Amino acid sequence: MTIDRTKADALMIAALKKVKGLVEVSPFSEKDGQQVLGIEEDAEKRSLMGLGRVTNTGIREVLNCDLVYVALTNREFGWGSPSLILKKGEEVVGEEIEDEEAIARLKKKENVWFMHKNFVIYKDRIAFPEDVMKKLCHFEIPCIPAEWCVLEGSDFSYHSIIYANPSTPCDLFLKNSYFKGVDVWGQGTILIGVKLRRNNKMPVEQEYAELYPLEAEDLLNYLPDVDCGECGAASCVEFAEQIIEGKNLPSNCPVLDDKIKTVMEKVFKFELPLIPYDTMMESVTPALIKLGHPTPDSMVLVTGNFRETVSILKLILEATLTDAFLLITDTKGYSIDNAVGGKTFRPFEIFKILVDSQVAAEVKHSRLIIPGLAKSLATDIKKLTSWDVLVGPVSGLELPLYLIKTAQGV
Ligand code: SF4
Repeated sequence: MTIDRTKADALMIAALKKVKGLVEVSPFSEKDGQQVLGIEEDAEKRSLMGLGRVTNTGIREVLNCDLVYVALTNREFGWGSPSLILKKGEEVVGEEIEDEEAIARLKKKENVWFMHKNFVIYKDRIAFPEDVMKKLCHFEIPCIPAEWCVLEGSDFSYHSIIYANPSTPCDLFLKNSYFKGVDVWGQGTILIGVKLRRNNKMPVEQEYAELYPLEAEDLLNYLPDVDCGECGAASCVEFAEQIIEGKNLPSNCPVLDDKIKTVMEKVFKFELPLIPYDTMMESVTPALIKLGHPTPDSMVLVTGNFRETVSILKLILEATLTDAFLLITDTKGYSIDNAVGGKTFRPFEIFKILVDSQVAAEVKHSRLIIPGLAKSLATDIKKLTSWDVLVGPVSGLELPLYLIKTAQGV
């Protein structure tokens, strides 16, 4: 890391002190990491409650961050959610939900059941309570995006800022170690972690280049696989490699579908705009955007609400004259890779924007395309929304090609 740690701490502490409900803040000492983990492990052994193990994955994630802080909270602090999830294997089968509107919506669905006034169980994912009693499930205390932490004039770029709630014994340890043992009713502690970018000095536009490149093997999905050699390459594989290297053109393949050829040409002429440094986590309002002239047969694409993700997708789809519905879901301003990693790309938010946008009234199908990076969530999204879920490509540049192929039913 090339950041100035003293400056970074000063920035973070200044930002955290502005958050309502955070009374005191201190950098967390690395030497306390092992002790905190040990206390949490002990607490987890005692937290069986007949309902299965409760693991504090949130604390572990925060301790894995590049910068870690501890804060004393008072009753004014707004606890985010979910602060507790129920998993069967790797699948989330239940979660705590804070948003009253969301609770009201879910209560109308047949496949959910409320274990507590704000803890929902997705009945089609679990035999409840049998699976819990058989210890096939476990609870997790996850980390939560610290969307209230706003860094002003930051000279370092970061992936995400998260926070986690310690167990009661760990809370006491933190109060004793950092806040003079203060243990007043209504006061608690949280740990806050900042995940920096791999190379803190890396310009953001280079990171886009990492996220969006089209590879030869991606192109192969759209080539005829005839190996006739008429393009001057010995095979379609070689042709794909030559296109990527800028040594051949899609128009040189006489067998290639005309629509694919035209879009491929446009994609390779498309220049990714430079992304300024200061846009990390800037969000747009979740909404439905109509691109081009979508018809009831046009596809519904899902993306996150990081401003630059939306802007770049629009540019690519407009440049290739693609007609589609773009559903912007609330990922708390995170780009898709960070949102999937940080668990802010959530099936529930997709369900919510599907309902709020009333996109079902615009189309005569019920198929969604989610980003390739969110592949692991496809089943959960299908179960919650009852829409068919197609997993799209990882690269936004491949998306127009993928849409043509999907429309052709190939
Ligand atoms: S002309 Fe088209 S089908 Fe023939 S080898 Fe080249 S890419 Fe493949």
